[in-house]
Amino acid sequence: MIDIGEAQRQILEEIPVLGTERIHILEALGRVLAQDVTSARNVPMCQNSAMDGYACRHEDLVGTTSQTPARLKLIGEAPAGKPYRETVSTGEAVRITTGGILPSGADTVVMVENTELHDQFVTILATPSKGAHIRDVGEDVKAGEVVLNRGTVVRPPEIGMLATLGHAYVHVFQRPIVAILSTGDELVDLDEPLTEGKVLCSNSYSLAAQVMECGAIPLSLGTCSDDGEDQQLRLCQGLRADVILTSGGVSVGKYDLVKDSLSQVGVNVKFWKVAMKPGKPLVFGTIGNKPVFGLPGNPTSAMTSFEQFVRPALLKMMGHTRLFRPTTEAVLAEYVPSEPGRLHLARCSLFEEDGQTMAQSTGTQSSGALRSMVLADGLMIILPVEHGFSRGAKVKVQLLHSNAPLVACSPFW
Ligand code: AMP
Ligand code: MG
Repeated sequence: MIDIGEAQRQILEEIPVLGTERIHILEALGRVLAQDVTSARNVPMCQNSAMDGYACRHEDLVGTTSQTPARLKLIGEAPAGKPYRETVSTGEAVRITTGGILPSGADTVVMVENTELHDQFVTILATPSKGAHIRDVGEDVKAGEVVLNRGTVVRPPEIGMLATLGHAYVHVFQRPIVAILSTGDELVDLDEPLTEGKVLCSNSYSLAAQVMECGAIPLSLGTCSDDGEDQQLRLCQGLRADVILTSGGVSVGKYDLVKDSLSQVGVNVKFWKVAMKPGKPLVFGTIGNKPVFGLPGNPTSAMTSFEQFVRPALLKMMGHTRLFRPTTEAVLAEYVPSEPGRLHLARCSLFEEDGQTMAQSTGTQSSGALRSMVLADGLMIILPVEHGFSRGAKVKVQLLHSNAPLVACSPFW
């Protein structure tokens, strides 16, 4: 039995980063750039106005106040998209809108709020500084500059920037196809009758959802029996995927045959069993350069093992460098027993009390219980000491979703 850290290290060592593909920028949300993105031009390309107002020459405005206003002749318009082609001379002004190109001769924009317009003459009531309200050439991005680096995760601002730079398509790392096979004689799928002794297969769905949450693509192989030949046949169907996940049948029971079936189809098993609760009987191996994970069947064990081992592997394949969930420190709101010999990842909720982040169990920690997973903000990392941890002790909590009450998510009102 190896510990979680060693298991993660051994897995990540085997995980390849996938190849790249060229996709439309709107498809790239959440993907990782496989190229540096360089700007071919300055942004903005021309000097333009940051305000609605009047473009004029600063020398005409020296000493201007509401008591001693300046009076300029309106000679034309420079709305956004329609440049004014003449030159602004002394004593003249051009009406300009936000984004309008600054006409030659002008060096300053006076905002409309500090002006009055009467009969083609603009009265200026305040002196802005020279160059006020003008966006300079290359102020945002300079021609030739690398703006986005390979390895960047594409979020909405990156998509906006790609569009600003004129890129409709971009190179990103590929997403793995992840085959999912649920094993167990007792399993029935959602469209099958739930007769006595049968169990609805939830793992195919929770695991597929975890795969999608990472940004990878699930390929469901459905359910199969605890029969070696059946399992091998189904595993072979999974070989077209980039990653294979199985659930169930990896423990020490008479009908736990998945580890053998994996070996039979050519999987090189690297390790079996990790010192953790839930999720001890994990199998990890490779076939060619494809990783294969034999996850335990208990619904929470499968999900918890996915979090620790499969998620970081999928993220690495997709070019991510931040592979692990964030952790926070919390204070135990109640006594939590520990599990001698293995790390306990206990489902917990978080709440604030006296300015401290408190953690408490979300209910039964049975490996089969999904409800405490539904209620969980995170997993408390409970070290394998003899007597557990009392109320008030500090623990690390691995956060399972981004809206955990770690940070106040409050409206402005
Ligand atoms: P196993 O790992 O095969 O020993 O299964 C452990 C427990 O998890 C048993 O109670 C199974 O019925 C349950 N189980 C296994 N696979 C699934 C699944 N796909 N969906 C829901 N429960 C499952
Ligand atoms: Mg089973």
